[in-house]
Amino acid sequence: MMTTLLATAFLQQLSTLPVVKPEELKRHVTYLASDDLKGRGTPSPELIKASEYIAAEFAKIGIQPGVGKSFFQSTKWERGRGAGEEVRNVVGVLPGSDPVLSKEYVVVSAHYDHLGEAKEGTDKIFNGANDDASGVAGVIGIAAAIAQSKPKRSIIFLTFYGEERGLVGSTFYSKNPVFPLKNTVAMLNIEQIGRTDDSEGPRVGAVNLTGFDFSTIGPACAKLGKEVGVPVIEHPQFSAPFFMASDNAAFAAVGVPAHTFSVAYEFSDYHKVGDHADKLDYDNMAKITALIAACTLNIANSSQVPSWNKYQKRTARYIEAYEKLQGKAPVSQTNKGS
Ligand SMILES: [Zn+2]
Repeated sequence: MMTTLLATAFLQQLSTLPVVKPEELKRHVTYLASDDLKGRGTPSPELIKASEYIAAEFAKIGIQPGVGKSFFQSTKWERGRGAGEEVRNVVGVLPGSDPVLSKEYVVVSAHYDHLGEAKEGTDKIFNGANDDASGVAGVIGIAAAIAQSKPKRSIIFLTFYGEERGLVGSTFYSKNPVFPLKNTVAMLNIEQIGRTDDSEGPRVGAVNLTGFDFSTIGPACAKLGKEVGVPVIEHPQFSAPFFMASDNAAFAAVGVPAHTFSVAYEFSDYHKVGDHADKLDYDNMAKITALIAACTLNIANSSQVPSWNKYQKRTARYIEAYEKLQGKAPVSQTNKGS
């Protein structure tokens, strides 16, 4: 039933399928992963520079600031190296067009930090082109592709600091949400969509989704992917364990159906200084980004909101968190004493 609805909604949009330009994605990655930004460590002045670049791109596209008149959710880094320095999540919003549904939100996100600099070596800079300048370029690319499409629900474009230091920016947002989490119906997070040279072999024209069948999002996006010939895949080994390995985990922990899209999970330059911008496949990246944009619009326009799949036993904790978020009594309590 739901897949039929989504398929219909999607077919209506086929004539206006989001257009993502490879050369624009390349421009974003080339800047963010340049040596000038010194590996975007958290916290660092270069990470602040990166946040300003992302905000400027959002503004150019016509995405509105998410935090009053600002794109920045600022706070102080609290622990270890750099304690006391400013860190920021970048928050932009495309307001929904429906008077009721515009008070519901779909989050599209990626982390814009990386590992900074190594202590020694000829090349010291962890450029983090695939991890995760590619995801940030994807977020900006989706914003550009759908900015004029008047979605019913509001779409939030979020880029996080501190992922590499333990999902810190996304966890901060989940505890200090700018838009109510109760009304946040889905989060589509993006990691590593540029490299196609997966250590398991070439990965072209398809995209992995973590926690593939944990919620209705995976099967619905896979249905869309099938329509346009971009398979959305459940990796047989990594789909479930990698669900906890990126910023979607912070949202899932508070009950929001949230997943991460990736092209190659394991590639030769992962967390090494050689993760450079010239090794990404931008044409493939544009194709994948367009698919994620289509999934985003579908969720934003659908008559139904995504939900956690009860038949998947790994989702029990997320369902419990979701019910707490919505103010419903947990199932175990409602069964008691009646
Ligand atoms: Zn990453």
